[in-house]
Amino acid sequence: MLKQVLGIIGGGQLGMMLTEAARKMPEHISDVIVLDPNPNCSASQAGAKQIVGDFKDRNAILELASKVDILTYEIESGDSAVLKIAESKTTVTPSPETLRIIQDKFLQKSFLNDNGIPVTDFVEIASIGDLRKKITGFGYPALLKARRDAYDGRGNFKIKSENELVSALNYFSGKPLMLEKFVDFKMEVSVIAARNTKGQIATYPLVENIHENNILKMTIAPARVTKQVALEAEKIAKETMQVLHGAGVFGIEMFVTKQDKILINEIAPRVHNSGHHTLQSSKTTQFEQHLRAIIGLELGDTALIHPTIMYNILGPDGFQGKYKMPDIKMDNFYLKMYGKEESKPQRKLGHFNLVDADDTLGISGLLESVSTIKDKVVPSST
Ligand code: ATP
Ligand code: MG
Repeated sequence: MLKQVLGIIGGGQLGMMLTEAARKMPEHISDVIVLDPNPNCSASQAGAKQIVGDFKDRNAILELASKVDILTYEIESGDSAVLKIAESKTTVTPSPETLRIIQDKFLQKSFLNDNGIPVTDFVEIASIGDLRKKITGFGYPALLKARRDAYDGRGNFKIKSENELVSALNYFSGKPLMLEKFVDFKMEVSVIAARNTKGQIATYPLVENIHENNILKMTIAPARVTKQVALEAEKIAKETMQVLHGAGVFGIEMFVTKQDKILINEIAPRVHNSGHHTLQSSKTTQFEQHLRAIIGLELGDTALIHPTIMYNILGPDGFQGKYKMPDIKMDNFYLKMYGKEESKPQRKLGHFNLVDADDTLGISGLLESVSTIKDKVVPSST
């Protein structure tokens, strides 16, 4: 097979780890070029060439497309209409049509629902009158969500009573909205799934996600669920992969309800924060898997070798600027920083993986270790 030049829209930490994976496959990928607005972005520090420009900059996207053999993305906010045009210059994957559906949460949920995949009850909201009427069908609390461009829960407003209807609507200042029934879930879980260009599908074992202030804090691999729940989640993930078009890795976020029912919360058409444990826990990292999928190689082994916890290192509150990290060395502890120059409150600066390499700790032992380590791995001002 000929060596290919890979393009990535977005050069943050996901682009960085994709670039690192690509550099380990020089027989398949000769070069990586990313599009990112921040000069010296994380991916460029890992050896990618960079076009400095916005993810939605039409000219920059088309310039990138003209320079690469295959174009993928690490963020879902790229312009899917421009990516459709870019398809005349290069292969875009996952397909722009899949991106178009996924990047609008209402279209995404409608698509899943139409394909018989379980999602929480949802409805489109056009006005305050509409909201007043439709929320009565769901009851309180309910979640009002921006249909597009949301991340880290910033596009969500939990409406707790009728008194909050107007402030909820105003919070979004005119953006297209949808309303969701609030799921009183037992656990949040996710499946990292891949499909290659030949249609082969592979899923990683189900993991458990703990959020704090709507931001992923920790991923526990494997999830502490019954075998039955894990199998059901895997089945739903596979069904989802069968209906989505395009090759690549997808992060499928799900809820486990109190009745052990699985509902999909949302899908990311890209490598996902809850798959970072695979850097140490699995034979094939999610980043290598994505590359294997899009260049049409056989998918790699997804088995979990050892239980692992991934812990996100976020910028501390009340401080912005250059920072340093303590130098910590420990067995089975893997710190990965993303090369971001400045810390900002709640910014994802890095993560660590803690691996139960001897299979002696179990998840509870790993959790105990994480709770002592996490207070030592804190960014501080220089
Ligand atoms: P992210 O960037 O973290 O994926 P996002 O901004 O796209 O997030 P969502 O994934 O829709 O937002 O929601 C963020 C979190 O809010 C979820 O992980 C979950 O904890 C909670 N949440 C979302 N929808 C619901 C729901 N219908 N019922 C209960 N909780 C919900
Ligand atoms: Mg989410």
